[in-house]
Amino acid sequence: MEQKKIFLLPGDGIGVEIMDEVRKFINYMKDELGLTLVYEEGLVGGAAYNRYGQPISEEDMQRALLADAVLLGAVGGPEWNEVAYDLRPEAGLLRLRKDLKLFANLRPAICYPALVHASSLRPELVEGLDMLIVRELTGGVYFGEPKTIVHLEKGRKRAIDTQVYDTYEIERIASLAFEIARTRRCQVTSIEKHNVMKTGLLWKEVVTAVHSACYQDVTLNHMLADTGSMELIRAPKQFDIILTDNLFGDLLSDMTAMLTGSLGMLPSASLGSYDETTGKRRAMYEPVHGSAPYIAGKGIANPIAMITSLAMCLRYSFCLNKEASDLEKAISAVLNDGLRTVDISSEGMQNVSTRVMGDAILEKFRKFSVG
Ligand code: NAD
Repeated sequence: MEQKKIFLLPGDGIGVEIMDEVRKFINYMKDELGLTLVYEEGLVGGAAYNRYGQPISEEDMQRALLADAVLLGAVGGPEWNEVAYDLRPEAGLLRLRKDLKLFANLRPAICYPALVHASSLRPELVEGLDMLIVRELTGGVYFGEPKTIVHLEKGRKRAIDTQVYDTYEIERIASLAFEIARTRRCQVTSIEKHNVMKTGLLWKEVVTAVHSACYQDVTLNHMLADTGSMELIRAPKQFDIILTDNLFGDLLSDMTAMLTGSLGMLPSASLGSYDETTGKRRAMYEPVHGSAPYIAGKGIANPIAMITSLAMCLRYSFCLNKEASDLEKAISAVLNDGLRTVDISSEGMQNVSTRVMGDAILEKFRKFSVG
């Protein structure tokens, strides 16, 4: 059977501790469930800078390109504040996203029943929430040219950002959203501002055309971004998949993060195109949170975002849907038992370390995977 190659990049700060937990799950699936997973490890961010003088070495970049999936912890920290701009830890992350050509960012928002009270919304609005934001990641206003500050007369300045989208960029992200919708509740809400933006007009036109051509079995709705953000707070459970551009996706995905309570719970996936020679889709999976330097090394970080990033990897890179669901069920079960890391702790619950949380989830996962 073909091996599934994962490249682990723990990075900096709590990235190292939470990756220690993920390694246990991969070893279990490999050694005891007999899955053909193999993994290698490398350095990224400040750890790579300290060793190689650059935020990711060429060798590790090659290994990332050859892997079926990259799992990344987190990068950065005050130790590297004075490092030159293009050598800073975040530059390693940006290089990976760019060279792997990751054009789609997927951010699920799942509200675990045991954590409904951690949400900023009323429990009845978020209980059972399970939605996914599919954000275009490499185009739009963050990358469009011209992007500059022009000096005008009398000391005045003009800042220019350019929102630009080509048909192919909208087609590929729309197709991906519709494909994923087929594995979920078959609903896509496309969000833009066609009333005031030309890119919004083209976005709506292209998404509609992709839908009519290939995905009529999926329900497609269109919403203006302002309405969409209101609806996300008013009744988030109406959404299955939100498909949107880079700018709106950036904002809406952070809003959605708050619906679920804690940063330590949120995974993400960034997907690229299928490689022409291998036929495989490039992909990187990482928690939404950063390296949390002030709690690093204390053994108290929440490993759940990292573990759910692994679940996304199993689902989207390896089609191991049962294992991915079992992992999510295991997390839910451990939370129901009252175990909490410090970031999600509440009265009456049992505070545990990163390692104890990881072990407890692994124990439940064992039961689900053999049961
Ligand atoms: P952060 O996400 O690291 O931390 C924000 C807050 O959430 C902190 O209070 C932290 O202790 C807490 N937190 C985050 N993850 C947690 C977890 N798993 N368990 C328990 N608590 C958790 O954001 P920040 O403090 O703004 O940034 C710290 C460093 O991380 C900076 O150098 C920043 O550039 C970097 N960063 C990296 C990434 C990435 O690697 N993708 C993303 C964001 C920030």
